[in-house]
Amino acid sequence: MRSAKFITLEGIDGAGKSTHINFIKQYLTQNKIDFVVTREPGGTELGEKLRELLLHDPMHAGTETLLMFAARFEHLQNIIMPSLNEGITVLCDRFSDATLAYQSAGKGVSEEFIKMLQKYTHASVNPDLTFLFDLPTEVSLERLKKTRVLDKFEKEAQQFHDNVRQSYLTLAKLEPSRFHVIDSTQSIDTIQSILKNVLDKTIK
Ligand code: ADP
Repeated sequence: MRSAKFITLEGIDGAGKSTHINFIKQYLTQNKIDFVVTREPGGTELGEKLRELLLHDPMHAGTETLLMFAARFEHLQNIIMPSLNEGITVLCDRFSDATLAYQSAGKGVSEEFIKMLQKYTHASVNPDLTFLFDLPTEVSLERLKKTRVLDKFEKEAQQFHDNVRQSYLTLAKLEPSRFHVIDSTQSIDTIQSILKNVLDKTIK
């Protein structure tokens, strides 16, 4: 029997997660794989309320980190773990790597503190596959400005996004079997054929 997978999408804002999550959804549907699509922060009723606060209200970076993990704990207990236990693949727009990239590399929260929270929250649950959409920050910021009103994180200075990007690339180097880094300067069609190849190998 095919076992359920925990798949996450990561990357700086504007790198293409939303665009490609739709393609992955189509792929899973066509291949008759039961799945749930979810996101962080969010994914539960409480988590979505916390998301609103996190994306729009000013707060200390430590508060932000704790609220991220509060939302994550709720998400794991109510959606991620029950789904995986029932054999349902979980496709999640951002997960714990994002807290290391944004709150630690981006905002200076201690990496050890975040790792401690990761250990408490999800020591036994980690993604099987993480697509990291990678793009120079000047390109992603241009793409973002054309398409939407920016949230609190998207409005940060370019240096912040550069730090987040470098942190993601470092995380990917540390776990090459989990991460699949995608050069998001490529065309959407090219990226989708790469996604299909990786999913064929991982899921089928
Ligand atoms: P994210 O969800 O990572 O913030 P989006 O998927 O919303 O990013 O993409 C941001 C913008 O960039 C959208 O307008 C999208 O159409 C565009 N975009 C995404 N991927 C590509 C690509 N490979 N080439 C050109 N434009 C892209």
